[in-house]
Amino acid sequence: MANLETRLCDVIGDRTSKVLADAFGITSVGDLMRHYPRRYMLRGELSNIAELNEGDEVTILAQVHSSATRPIRGRKGSILEVIVTDGQGKISLTFFNQAWREKELKVGSQGLFAGKIGVFNGKRQLAHPDYEMVPDGADVDSAVDGFAGKYLPVYPATAKMPSWKISKCVDMAIASLDEFSDYLPEQIRSAHNYPSLAQALIALHTPSDLEQAQVARERLTFDEAFLLQLMLVMRRNELKKLTSISRKTIKGGLLEAFDAMLPFTLTNGQLEVIAEIEGDLAQPHPMHRLLQGEVGSGKTVVALRAMLAVVDSAGQAALLAPTEVLAAQHLRTFEKLLGELAQAGRLGSSNKATRITLITGSQSGPARKEALALAASGGAGIIIGTHALLGEKVVFNDLGLIVVDEQHRFGVEQRDALKVKAVKPPHLLVMTATPIPRTVAMTVFGDLDLSTLRELPLGRQPITTHVVAVLEKPAYLERAWERIREEVAAGHQAYVVAPRIETGSDESADIDFLFGQDSPDIASVTELAPRLAKGALKGLRVAELHGRQSSDVKDSTMRAFAAGEIDVLVSTTVIEVGVDVANATVMVIMDADRFGVSQLHQLRGRVGRGSSGGLCLLVTGAPVETPARVRLDAVAATLDGFELARIDLEQRREGDVLGANQSGTRSHLRLLRVLRDESMIEAARADAEGVIAASPDLAGYPALAGEVALMARDTAIDYLDKG
Ligand code: ADP
Ligand code: MG
Repeated sequence: MANLETRLCDVIGDRTSKVLADAFGITSVGDLMRHYPRRYMLRGELSNIAELNEGDEVTILAQVHSSATRPIRGRKGSILEVIVTDGQGKISLTFFNQAWREKELKVGSQGLFAGKIGVFNGKRQLAHPDYEMVPDGADVDSAVDGFAGKYLPVYPATAKMPSWKISKCVDMAIASLDEFSDYLPEQIRSAHNYPSLAQALIALHTPSDLEQAQVARERLTFDEAFLLQLMLVMRRNELKKLTSISRKTIKGGLLEAFDAMLPFTLTNGQLEVIAEIEGDLAQPHPMHRLLQGEVGSGKTVVALRAMLAVVDSAGQAALLAPTEVLAAQHLRTFEKLLGELAQAGRLGSSNKATRITLITGSQSGPARKEALALAASGGAGIIIGTHALLGEKVVFNDLGLIVVDEQHRFGVEQRDALKVKAVKPPHLLVMTATPIPRTVAMTVFGDLDLSTLRELPLGRQPITTHVVAVLEKPAYLERAWERIREEVAAGHQAYVVAPRIETGSDESADIDFLFGQDSPDIASVTELAPRLAKGALKGLRVAELHGRQSSDVKDSTMRAFAAGEIDVLVSTTVIEVGVDVANATVMVIMDADRFGVSQLHQLRGRVGRGSSGGLCLLVTGAPVETPARVRLDAVAATLDGFELARIDLEQRREGDVLGANQSGTRSHLRLLRVLRDESMIEAARADAEGVIAASPDLAGYPALAGEVALMARDTAIDYLDKG
């Protein structure tokens, strides 16, 4: 008899198990049992095509009548349209960029098609339906009768391993399975009224009715949430056990001198967050805090205060920035805000003063040497840098605090590479401008405490956003350039953002997930900038900024832009995070549909940072009502970053949210959806805390400890690990 660890090839044929391994990485009986069906089809529920209405969830038995692939207007990609008939009515099936399905959906062949009826151009259709073709040569009635009265699971499948074949393998695996134990503590299982693990796994593949399938799915979804929360609660406890140096704020120090010269009043939100951080820093174990706040909400000054508190206690603080542009900007901002308090050692400088130094990958040898010496000796209290900070040669005297700016650009490994440079575990403050819904914070950042800055500093003007649809109104693009000329004439500055550096290149990571394909006529910085300078923006001072320039060029361009010596900055998303030029009031984003929702929100946060209102124009060739266009309309309709973060999440594959790598997280988090399963995640959190309180290292639950260890090993929970 088999159990979940049994090799699959001992239960089903070698050939078939090899195909399953190649297609899905399935090698054990357990792997196969965890290859869950996406939905079920039931013969008894077959629908009559003529009677279908928009919004109906249907399964139809039909024959392929015709099929054709055509290009999509205005963009690279194709649409496969397949018309099927049940002898009376007809309906079309559409597939985006999946022309290969034409081979499976041969004219004359029969199959079951399931999905939700939509309407496009007045015609009913099924977009991306699930289907199950009746095998060639099989008699339709008997093929379908095989499923009669029974729910037919529809699996993620491939051409070589269609759903019905997987179903057969699962049946064989189930038949061979012996009793197996359940890792979920009995009191939790019964409190939720869940079936046992064996019951749930079997019911999910071969339910006797849909309710049974649903209960099984719930139990298995809960397992994922519960194991994840256990892992996170345990991690947090581990942190609490570490001792670090407590950094209490002192009287009459640098921090106090800084507060006295701050040119503005801190908002209440800032004060609250500052109190939380100061409370953490005073503890003898490491702070582990995430600070989230809208673009422009004033996170930087909050972080700087935390750094100064650490300097006051004779420690050092390191600020890790995602790009050289940002690192250099932080240096300028800090030097400006601190004035002579950042000039320790200079003649006549305050005796409370410290020094700030910058470490980047591209600085000159002598500059690097001096910076390294300042970090090692403790001469610099604040060390700002890019990834270069992680380098072996970078040594600190007493690193007390690590601040990570724009957290989503860094992984846990990078944080850890910095942590080991401290004598004792340092305090950690990570910042993000991408608002994170609560349950996402709980699932993805469950080992971090959370602080949120919601209000923007007073006097900040809202940003107005419009979609410029060049397909319907080509003349509006001209109007966009005119708006830039008007703003510049009024003494302001402008950004023009393009998805690419040069034609044929690609900078935006979002493009792959949105389209999976390249398109030739997407705006590029190096093409657009000279064209604008000679044409629509003639007479204005136009400059380029992108990631392929040397850091000297980037830095001097940013400086010139900040100093008002450049009117229009044509750039890639290198300006996405953190860049702060208050005089910039208008931003035109070319091919805006190539960017994700949160990214657009971040980008537009660059304008309207001063006291005049900002304007953001989203230029797109995407036709009305396409998903891309709907996304842009959503961005234009609201300035609420939390709302937009939700939209963004809903559109991403969940794996991206949970930082899945194919082999790791994915296999552990197949069913859990952070938005949909909010209440379940909260319940799982409470259960996990209860179990850990009773048995801190899970000694009383060996099977559970094993599952958590498996998850911890395979999972770098790291939404942030992608740039
Ligand atoms: P972000 O949260 O996006 O990092 P910043 O810290 O860059 O925001 O702040 C945006 C701008 O607002 C900066 O120019 C900063 O000096 C300014 N600022 C921060 N706090 C306040 C405040 N309380 N009142 C007025 N201006 C502030
Ligand atoms: Mg910032």
